Amino acid sequence: MPEQSYAGQGEHTPSYYAASANPAPARPALTGDQRFDICIVGAGYSGLSAGLHLAEKGHNVAIVEGAQVGWGASGRNGGQIVNGLNASLQTIARRYGHDMSRFVAGIAQEGQEIIRDRIATYDIKCGLKNGNVFTGYTSAHMRELEDRRALWASYGLTAQEMLSKEDLRAKVGSDVYAGGLIDHTGGHMHPLNLALGEAAAFEQNGGVIFERTPVTAVDDTGPAPVVKTAKGQITCNTLILCGNAYLGSVVPKLAVRVMPVSTQMIATAPLGDELAAQLIPSDHCFEDIRYILDYFRLSEDNRMIFGGGVGYGGTDPSDLTRKIRPAMLKVFPALRDIPIDYAWSGNFALSFSRVPQMGRIGQNIYFAHGYSGHGVTGSHLFGRILSEAVDADLSRFDVFAGVPWYPFPGGRLLRVPYSMMGAWYYALKDRLGL
Ligand SMILES: Cc1cc2nc3c(=O)[nH]c(=O)nc-3n(C[C@H](O)[C@H](O)[C@H](O)COP(=O)(O)OP(=O)(O)OC[C@H]3O[C@@H](n4cnc5c(N)ncnc54)[C@H](O)[C@@H]3O)c2cc1C
Repeated sequence: MPEQSYAGQGEHTPSYYAASANPAPARPALTGDQRFDICIVGAGYSGLSAGLHLAEKGHNVAIVEGAQVGWGASGRNGGQIVNGLNASLQTIARRYGHDMSRFVAGIAQEGQEIIRDRIATYDIKCGLKNGNVFTGYTSAHMRELEDRRALWASYGLTAQEMLSKEDLRAKVGSDVYAGGLIDHTGGHMHPLNLALGEAAAFEQNGGVIFERTPVTAVDDTGPAPVVKTAKGQITCNTLILCGNAYLGSVVPKLAVRVMPVSTQMIATAPLGDELAAQLIPSDHCFEDIRYILDYFRLSEDNRMIFGGGVGYGGTDPSDLTRKIRPAMLKVFPALRDIPIDYAWSGNFALSFSRVPQMGRIGQNIYFAHGYSGHGVTGSHLFGRILSEAVDADLSRFDVFAGVPWYPFPGGRLLRVPYSMMGAWYYALKDRLGL
């Protein structure tokens, strides 16, 4: 199955988010031979978080973005602010030991704190709302959620609370679930407007963004990395690669570490206050805990924003609505006659262990990627940790850079069919309630 290389054509994907984006300035493309102390590739949350932290400290930073700010996963995701790093603390303890799981627990909520701090400090208008809920369909799911709550509590993370079927029914107007787990420190927002607000904050602090400038190659043979693009290049002392799932084969050493995976979303027409309050009276966001999960929330103008499904290798079905709408109607049959106004998809980067990765190529090229579908908070956190590393505080960077990563079985040729087989197996377990 072919893998997508860089696909940015300049314009945002036709999502609800692009249609409701806050105004943003037109930014120039890179031309000529330029020099910056720090160059970042990719204006998603990882790049913007690293860039903003560094610019706030007075560094001379440029971000080179192939399309527009937030063009990638950061501008088209579910908007769900979920704590943690995707792989559970239990998995992290089993694979990497208790010191590592204690370390990760200690930073599990830092990503959402960064987001809230950015929104408050820079007055970013992105419709932030509180509370994310994990839902379960079966008694096995409910045991898993209770184990998760107890484990987090054992690390001192006590903002999570179990919800019985009745408790959950008061928060979401659907009868399909057995119950859930709420994280009071989670939440949701308009993801593209968050990215646009962070980009403006970066520029306010002296940062420079080049848009519509795909990086075609990185020359790491000399003492200073050089980022090459069609009409210009940047020579820098430090390069940070934040292209995540869209970086394609530009840096082959990174391409083998993660696999692009697409997920699809739809947005209904506005539901009106009454129906919206019937379907999600709590106004929290929701995701279930199946291997291939659904996720949904209300937009600020009361549309149902519903996502789900995966395409290993970053491929999409031809009709996105036809794929996602039936899943939405299973949860909310009352939406049967409501039109779908927008359907779109995006790629996240999956790592085999589902633990995001950061590291260094040589001495002065850093990278972070592989949040595996839960990266809104992780990318903000990793951006901060990268900024610390560039500023010579390697304490947290070294912990993650030292985590072993595993290639996907089957290599780049067979990893897509192998992953599909694995997903099929876990989806079957979900269907059988095991
Ligand atoms: C549809 C969807 C729904 C999701 N829902 C959620 C959710 O609800 N909650 C959650 O926690 N996570 C979610 N995720 C994951 C989350 O959005 C990502 O983990 C996160 O946004 C990753 O940020 P990033 O900056 O690392 O990557 P991206 O946002 O993808 O940014 C990478 C940027 O690099 C640029 N780039 C790449 N290559 C080049 C190049 N060669 N030259 C120049 N620029 C380049 C791209 O154009 C892009 O703008 C979802 C992902 C998708 C796709």
